[in-house]
Amino acid sequence: MVVVMQAGASEEQLLQVEDRLHHDGFKVHLSRGANRIIIGAIGNTEQVDRRALEALPGVEKIISITRPFKLASREFQPENTIIQIGDHCLGDGSLIMIAGPCAVEGREKYLQAAWAVKKAGADLLRGGAFKPRTSPYSFQGLGEEGLKIMAEARELTGLPIVTELMDQKSLDMVVEYADIVQIGARNMQNFLLLKDLGSINKPVLLKRGMSATIEEWLMAAEYILMSGNPQVILCERGIRTFETYTRNTLDLSAVPLVKELSHLPVLVDPSHGTGKRELVAPMAMAAAACGADGLIIEMHPHPEEAWSDGPQSLVPEQLSHLIKHCQGLRRSLQAGEVI
Ligand code: PEP
Ligand code: MN
Repeated sequence: MVVVMQAGASEEQLLQVEDRLHHDGFKVHLSRGANRIIIGAIGNTEQVDRRALEALPGVEKIISITRPFKLASREFQPENTIIQIGDHCLGDGSLIMIAGPCAVEGREKYLQAAWAVKKAGADLLRGGAFKPRTSPYSFQGLGEEGLKIMAEARELTGLPIVTELMDQKSLDMVVEYADIVQIGARNMQNFLLLKDLGSINKPVLLKRGMSATIEEWLMAAEYILMSGNPQVILCERGIRTFETYTRNTLDLSAVPLVKELSHLPVLVDPSHGTGKRELVAPMAMAAAACGADGLIIEMHPHPEEAWSDGPQSLVPEQLSHLIKHCQGLRRSLQAGEVI
């Protein structure tokens, strides 16, 4: 349940409510909004004396959270979570562009890609140093060497970096280098890993599992939130269906739906969502139109030579066009020029 404090409630009144909730066996999460404080109380609501709680000084009302995901729900936090990364904000209505190659393949190649990403006008740089490959014989990533190359690219271009964490043993290392820690589709329900992400102070980009329902995805986010990290970014990257012409089926209906259910920012990955270069720009435009908070796009200076995901990687000029058009569309929509 959620305890909504009155607009002018004092810190002392807040403390009194928190004490009472702790005493009744609840775990308490504070959310300080622009106008009022909301207390999320997780525990057994059946035993609680709601009327006594509501009568405490400073309490405006008590709302029950009906969704199984509590901290992730809009009922718990009506305003959007806004996550600051460098000069950029995710969740404030802007469209954040993340781009880069699927994998870090080497220093020279990555720095060339990073400069192309910067020139195309992207805000953040992506790249995989630990790659979750279907075949154990495929390139598995450069590991820490790849992270060091990414850090150098950040230093040179000023672009914050997004990279995937695959397991608990490399958590400290990845967290040290990354500005945003990505959890891939294959790890969305690695609950022990999700719990460990609660104690890091970096944002987590949580991709939707390839056969995860929206509720399962939000419950995965809940693991990170309830473990203490409020900076969770969701990412729709396509789900597996009977369709074979595309790598996955990009579920864009998930974007407005999740934004209604949850206060967390939602990104779209049309690269893994389609698997086809020619479908990336149209789906990116659709994502910009349906309210996504950002896009994550694969780009490679020479896709035909890429060690992974070449067929879905844009060339730099295509990325540059995509960014221009998506930002233009978003601005027109926000200005009410397009309906
Ligand atoms: C990736 O972003 O490189 C990746 C492997 O994505 P996903 O987990 O969505 O397949
Ligand atoms: Mn990839």
